[in-house]
Amino acid sequence: MIVINSVAQMQQYAREHHGQIALVPTMGYLHEGHASLMVEARRRAAVVVMSIFVNPTQFGVNEDLDSYPRDLERDKRVASEAGVDVIFAPTAADMYPAGYQSYLNVEGLTTELCGASRPGHFRGVTTVVAKLFNIVAPKLAIFGKKDFQQLAVIRRMAIDFNMDLEIVGMPIVRESDGLALSSRNARLDATQRKQALCLSRSIAAAREAFNAGEQSVAALRDKALAVIEKESGAEVDYLEFRDQDTLLPLEKADQRTLLALAVRVGSVRLIDNTILGEG
Ligand code: AMP
Repeated sequence: MIVINSVAQMQQYAREHHGQIALVPTMGYLHEGHASLMVEARRRAAVVVMSIFVNPTQFGVNEDLDSYPRDLERDKRVASEAGVDVIFAPTAADMYPAGYQSYLNVEGLTTELCGASRPGHFRGVTTVVAKLFNIVAPKLAIFGKKDFQQLAVIRRMAIDFNMDLEIVGMPIVRESDGLALSSRNARLDATQRKQALCLSRSIAAAREAFNAGEQSVAALRDKALAVIEKESGAEVDYLEFRDQDTLLPLEKADQRTLLALAVRVGSVRLIDNTILGEG
């Protein structure tokens, strides 16, 4: 495995391996969720490039850019064992040099859910992902459904901007107790780690009611919210039942309905989601 820090060197490598590359964009502090994306990349392409970049433009001023967990040495070991060929870990100064002033914005989809609580977040995400696509020129890029809205926004961007690559979405990887893996879980203490289970429990409560025949979103939402509200230390940012394509609100749920939620546990904001008819 090689580690490339410079944008120019990454572009050189990409030219030499054009048409063979699968890209897995990450912010590092790798876990089994990231590993599942690497395995899929390995299966689908001759060359696997994993980018590791904690992208400053997708963090708001009061968000956790500085406290976001980082451990590049450990990430190198994990990625190398998973069969990654190249780690691309650029510096912020190389990605956003003096004079930088270009941003890519998807409208509509980005005003819902996380976009409503984190203004500017998806503009930062689409900007950095578009830059990564230009730098690495992958034939496919792999993302997790853990960030369901992000995947939807990136698919939209790729279609709207005629980006010539395949976007692949992979299932959420969870701990055995149900907690969705996230780099931010490392910031939870032991008590908060237990409290964080309210996200997956709330999903389970909604699914149970749905499977028992409840289709009213208002009723399903009450059931799911009650689980979070019972958990002291957890505060709901949003909990919404949405059309999985448009991300717009619904009154009646069906098998394809997305349940997405964001919950604050202490200072850590966690997200999770499910499609009611899956899992
Ligand atoms: P991050 O490093 O958190 O920006 O995530 C990088 C990629 O890994 C994104 O496409 C995420 O959706 C994906 N990812 C993060 N956590 C998980 C998980 N628990 N299961 C599947 N994919 C994940």
